[in-house]
Amino acid sequence: MSQRVSCDSCGRTFPVASPLAQCPCGGLLGVTQTPAETGAALRRRFDARVGADPAVQGSGVWRYRELLLSGRGPIVAHPEGNTRLYRRDALARYVGVADLQIKHEGENPTGSFKDRGMTVAVTHAVRTGATAVACASTGNTSASMAAYAANAALPALVFVPAGKVSAGKLAQALAYNARTLLVRGDFDACLRLVREASSALGIALLNSINPWRVEGQKTIVWELLQQRGWDPPDWIVVPAGNLGNTSAFGKALRELKELGVLRRLPRLAAIQAAGASPFFKSYRTGFKRRFTMNAETVATAIRIGDPASYDRGVRAIRDTRGVVAAVGDRAILEAKAAVDAAGIGCEPASAASIAGLRQLVARGVVKPGQSVVAVLTGHVLKDSQTVMDWHLGKGRGRNRPVEIEARVSAVEKLLRR
Ligand SMILES: *Cc1c(COP(=O)(O)O)cnc(C)c1O
Ligand SMILES: [Zn+2]
Repeated sequence: MSQRVSCDSCGRTFPVASPLAQCPCGGLLGVTQTPAETGAALRRRFDARVGADPAVQGSGVWRYRELLLSGRGPIVAHPEGNTRLYRRDALARYVGVADLQIKHEGENPTGSFKDRGMTVAVTHAVRTGATAVACASTGNTSASMAAYAANAALPALVFVPAGKVSAGKLAQALAYNARTLLVRGDFDACLRLVREASSALGIALLNSINPWRVEGQKTIVWELLQQRGWDPPDWIVVPAGNLGNTSAFGKALRELKELGVLRRLPRLAAIQAAGASPFFKSYRTGFKRRFTMNAETVATAIRIGDPASYDRGVRAIRDTRGVVAAVGDRAILEAKAAVDAAGIGCEPASAASIAGLRQLVARGVVKPGQSVVAVLTGHVLKDSQTVMDWHLGKGRGRNRPVEIEARVSAVEKLLRR
């Protein structure tokens, strides 16, 4: 097996052992995979590892190691992945398709899919001699990086927008002992700052522009396909912010097709929050124009106005005959309440995939008879304040707590109501 790292913009190539996270020209680095095996042989190898893969502690990311990162050295696995696929009739009815599966990436060790990319990026950082790691984050990247850096005994430096990160995510960064900087500015400002600071200070940059994170995030798609016996659904739906995941999903599908593992590709549906929808606006021009905006949405994990992986996101949508949609905060919160009430639960950004799917079915883009896997990106406890605000607020479907005297009669009276 072998890998090659090259720049999307200038084409310059680098060895896998290069510590760079971005090209000196400012372009994004990407990894080209040429495994020794293809097709059915590769599939059999991956299948044989399910449930028992002691070399990597059963990790659902490193199961696919021939298509991730080559070379010798330690693997910094939590381990991660192996998230479940759910069926819930109530949610299938809510979105309007009978054949709906939910892939819950909030079941990763730090509560979001970011762990899948982080295990590969931190492993690469350790192998290339990093002395510290850094990232800008809307919350989950910092939580994940902090945990994996702690695991690898590397100092971690986190840049988050002051006042715009949920308490749960901020608490994780502090708990896992990352040096946490609250930047006066939005996520896009944090990303600009960390890109400059990391190259000036020689710190490994672990944002989603880091090519190894993209490699790890491909395994969301591979694992869901494997869980379906490699039978692709008609659609895969994913929330879209910085477009790291959208890009990774596109690359994951492209590679499996090229390697002869899949014959038919699912279509991607990337869902943005209406208040943070530059990619959706570009999509509506047929990607003729690129937009940026000042992002504002309750879904803080996708509150991004200038997506770093824009070009790759475009390619992912084009390659899969995909679509992009945008949903308002109200629709996101209602969809989240539906996911939560089904006993599954997710953070607001994750619910964008359910709200977006519901909209696409209503518009006739996704047909009721088609099969769909919707990805939930983060855990319900990541943002408990939004849950409380919703249920303590006014409107239908709220579940207000009731304060009572500590007497059985008070309980009885309530139940009779
Ligand atoms: C990071 C994140 C996203 C956005 O993913 P991108 O790769 O930036 O598009 C969505 N949901 C959650 C919970 C996240 O943590
Ligand atoms: Zn370059």
